Amino acid sequence: MPQNLQEIPAIFHNSETGAPIERCLMCDTYLLDDKEYIIEKAMVNYPNTGTTDLIWEFAICMSCMDSVMNEYSKESHQAMNEYFMDNMNLARQYKLARENNFDVNEWLASCLITGKPKDDCSQFQLTVQCKGDKAIFDRTPFLISDEAMDAVTELLSNATIDAMNKFRDEHFPPPEDLSPLFRDRDFVLI
Ligand SMILES: [Zn+2]
Repeated sequence: MPQNLQEIPAIFHNSETGAPIERCLMCDTYLLDDKEYIIEKAMVNYPNTGTTDLIWEFAICMSCMDSVMNEYSKESHQAMNEYFMDNMNLARQYKLARENNFDVNEWLASCLITGKPKDDCSQFQLTVQCKGDKAIFDRTPFLISDEAMDAVTELLSNATIDAMNKFRDEHFPPPEDLSPLFRDRDFVLI
């Protein structure tokens, strides 16, 4: 087993069961027997109390990810890719991997794009790529800060933002007690 395949860190587990997420959000395929997929989570951060609240979490298989991405406009897709290529700073991830340091807290300590420390973010998104029951420590896991999400949102066409928000509303209907604050940010699927 290549060294960069590691147990899926608990922070990426199903927040209700505490176990790894088993199924693709969209096609319901079972993921833990060798499928390639992505886990994404969005959190609200309260640095003063050292706590976080989950906004949403899901796992999505590669073929469903492709079909979601295909709903985005070509311009948005290109703008997002260019933004990531130009701004992503993978040096820290690669250094940790070279040092065989698979402490997920270090991988998620600051924004992949802006370097903003996690504790300074009011919201952030987490991403990890997985294969079966293992996480692939390579480009992921990474954290995207609120300010980087805002920058990405500004690059997107209205049609793409609508498609992303539709995806969110279909899959994550807001609980009744959810503060409107949690909904004011456009959903960005990275
Ligand atoms: Zn799927």
